[in-house]
Order: sequence, then structure tokens, then C-alpha cells
Amino acid sequence: MPPAVEASAGAEWAALARLAQRHFGVEAALLTRAGGDGQRLLASAGPLPVALPPDLFALSHAGGNLLDTVVVVPDTQADERFQNHAVRVRAAGATSDTPSCWPRFFAACAVTASTGQHLGALCLLDHAPRTFDNTQRTFLSELAALAAAGIERVESMTALRLRVGELEACAELVTLALAGSGTGVWDRDIPSGTIRYSLEWKAMLGYGPHDLTDRIEDAIARLHPDDVEYVRAAMQAHFENHTQTYSVEHRIRCKDGRYKWICSRGKVVSRDSEGRALRMVGTSTDITELKRVEAELQELATIDFLTQLPNRRHFIMQSEAELVRLRGMRGRASAVLMFDLDHFKALNDRWGHALGDRALSHFAALLREELRPGDIVGRVGGEEFAMVLPGAPVETAVALAQRVQQRVLQTPMMHGDVAIVMTVSVGIDSMLADDTGAYQSFSRGDEALYAAKARGRNRIEVYGV
Ligand code: GH3
Ligand code: MG
Ligand code: MG
Repeated sequence: MPPAVEASAGAEWAALARLAQRHFGVEAALLTRAGGDGQRLLASAGPLPVALPPDLFALSHAGGNLLDTVVVVPDTQADERFQNHAVRVRAAGATSDTPSCWPRFFAACAVTASTGQHLGALCLLDHAPRTFDNTQRTFLSELAALAAAGIERVESMTALRLRVGELEACAELVTLALAGSGTGVWDRDIPSGTIRYSLEWKAMLGYGPHDLTDRIEDAIARLHPDDVEYVRAAMQAHFENHTQTYSVEHRIRCKDGRYKWICSRGKVVSRDSEGRALRMVGTSTDITELKRVEAELQELATIDFLTQLPNRRHFIMQSEAELVRLRGMRGRASAVLMFDLDHFKALNDRWGHALGDRALSHFAALLREELRPGDIVGRVGGEEFAMVLPGAPVETAVALAQRVQQRVLQTPMMHGDVAIVMTVSVGIDSMLADDTGAYQSFSRGDEALYAAKARGRNRIEVYGV
């Protein structure tokens, strides 16, 4: 029992013992607490016997109802239950050597919990045999009932405090664990349209303890506009029991206005009798760094490092997607251009591989200047590049190729004072809805490119012309 509870309860029980002692005019009154390993003294008024009186209720207690049970032993000398308890002592103030028996008189009332549990006894002790009438029995019972209520109250309070202590320790552990993992907790009340956040949740996004309302509309307003529909749909699917748990990756606006990538996971923890979701709790984890690394890896996987153009794999994927789009709108075509730098091997041989590299990124930069939004481009080989112009006719591609050739001529690469002029050959054809794959248009474009090389390089050839 915590010391504070023990101390305040101790004073209350001592007052009860004094009240009993004075009211009955006895030498001493005791309040005892029965326990698995014998009884112990809770409070007393007056001199104590050398040993606690026998627990007559525990002895006689065999499942019987002990409420209002009062036991009176008018003379302990005549009672065998007190053989080992009543001690021969010199009576207080006695002049003779004749030892008296202490206690000589004993009366007790069982202290019984409302549940029927035997809690202890309120005992009266005196140095002379006495009688105890019914009125006295009743009053002793009433005092014992007070003691019982007090003990029950204090003990349930103690149990409650212990439980609160355990819960606090547990909550602290959870808080520490969550803080360490950059995770916050939320608790949504669906019928009232409110949501509460843990301090860690708020801190994760830079908000202070009082910066946020608990309204769900405000929570939705903090979502990145592009994520709102997806988050709503995932939430609805879980409310309607289509998913075991709710789990989304989305962006939430921080206090400073920036967005952070967050992974939110949750579960409906209570539903009404018709299965409607009432309450949902969950966690949110900051995955901003994870997303950044993911984006970097994605970029590494799709972007050619030297030229910073999409790589071959990514170009082909995007081209295949364009072919799928074309199939949905019959009669349309998209121009395809294949570029190959002329005599690049010679350039490498003459100026070195490092300069060759510079030349490749120089050309890529020029090509990029001709790009319009939606155009698909990629470095598809060593000194080979390709483009798909969605929905564009061959003429548009020819004009683009001419502009590129012009740029290449007009913007030579400088090597010290030396201007290194490159040329490029271009083969052109169209991606058609009937093509079985994007590769078909590429090989027709390559055929045209081969013709451009064969006809002297620095040329533009259209397939089949
Ligand atoms: P053509 O006019 O017929 O296209 O002749 P070419 O020399 O350009 O063609 P070829 O295919 O014979 O040679 C291409 C050269 O491009 C060979 C290779 O060393 C060079 N190359 C390929 N990738 C790179 C690269 O990443 N950096 C550098 N510096 N050179 C590269
Ligand atoms: Mg080549
Ligand atoms: Mg070449």
C-alpha cells in the first residue's frame, strides 16, 4: 500500500478504535486485518496484549455469513480459545502480586466486506469480566460496518492506484517507443466527425499541442490535394469491411506549409449493431526519407546518368504505354524518331572517351530543348537517341529533326579553343495502332536511319519514302 494512503487510512482507523474504546469504556480496542498469513493490527487504542487475540471468525469461518457476527467472551480465563493468548500480567495499578489475566474480557465483531469476504475484526479488551448486551452488540456491529467500508474503500483505491501506475508505465513505454520510431497515434470518432492526435503525431508535422482542431474536415484539408480521393476511398473501403485494415501512403501538410510523406495504418475498433464503423484508431509514420530514397532509386532506374535523359528501358515502357493509348483512338499515329550521331567512334578516337562523354550530354541538352510536354525521349544506345511524339504526323517529326540538326551545327562543343562540330542522322516513321509492339515502329525508324547513313549521314530519312 502506498505510504500516503496507509497514513491517512491509519489515522481514520485509529479514530475508530478510540471511539470504540471510549464508547464501551474498555481498556483497549483493536482493529485487525485478516490475511492469508494470519492477522495483523491495523489500529489500536489502549494497551496491546502481547499477542493478537485469536481470530475467532477465521476459525469459525467455514463459508458461513459473517455479517453482524459478534462474539463475546465474558471471561477469557474460562475460555479454552484464549489458553495461549491471555497472558497473566500484573493489573495496571494493582498493588498485590496476584497476576491478573489480560485480556480478561473479550468481545469482537467481524469486519466483513460487502462481497462477504472476511476482512478482520473490531475487538474490545478489558481487564475484568464483563457482560455485553444487545444494544452494545448492535453498536459494535455498526462500528465494524464502518471499518469494513473504510477498508474496502482504501484497498480498492490502492488497487486502482497500482493499476494507474502500471498503465502510466505502459503508456510511457508506448510513448517512448513511438517517439523513437517517428510514429504518432490518432483516434477517430466517426459519428461525431472528430479525430484526436497524440503529441508525437503533432510534433512529427511540426505542430504544437494546441495547433490543431479535432475536426475531420480540417484533417482532410491538411492532406495533399492529389491524395484526398485515394485516402477517402481506402478509408471507405475499410469502413465497409472490404479491407482488414486501413493502410495508405499519403502526404500531409506540415505547420510550415511543406508536405511530408506519411504512412497511416488503422483499424475500426468498434461498430454499431448494423456494422457501421464508430471508432477507428491508428498510427502515422513519417516516411518522407523513405520516399526520397525511393524516388532517387526510381530515378536511378529510369534516368541515364550521363545524359540525364530517360534510359532505354524507361523509354520503351513509355512508348508501349503510348501504343496502348493509340489503340484506343483508331486512325491516329505518333511519330517516331531515331537519332544516331555520325562517326562517333572517330570522335572518341580523336579526342578521347571523356570528350565523347561530354559530346553525348551536349547533344542530349540540345535535344531536350526541342522537347514539348508529353513527348517521349530516351537514350536508347551508346550514341543513339529516340523520340516518340504522341499524336504527331511525320511532318512534325521531320521539322523537329531539322531543328535538332541545326542546333547541333550551330552549337558546336568547345574543347579549349577548338569547336568540335558533330552531325546526326535521323530516321523517322510512325507508331501505328495496328503495331503489335512499340519495337515495330522502332525497327522501321532504324531502317530509315540506316538509309540516312547509307546516303551520306547528317540526313533525315522517312521510312518507305
Ligand atoms: P556511324 O556514323 O555509322 O554511326 O559511326 P559511329 O562511329 O558513330 O558508329 P559506331 O556504332 O561504329 O560507334 C559508336 C561509338 O560510340 C562506339 C563507342 O565507343 C561510342 N560510344 C558508345 N557509348 C559511349 C559512351 O557512353 N561514351 C563514349 N565516349 N563513347 C561511347
Ligand atoms: Mg550507333
Ligand atoms: Mg553513330
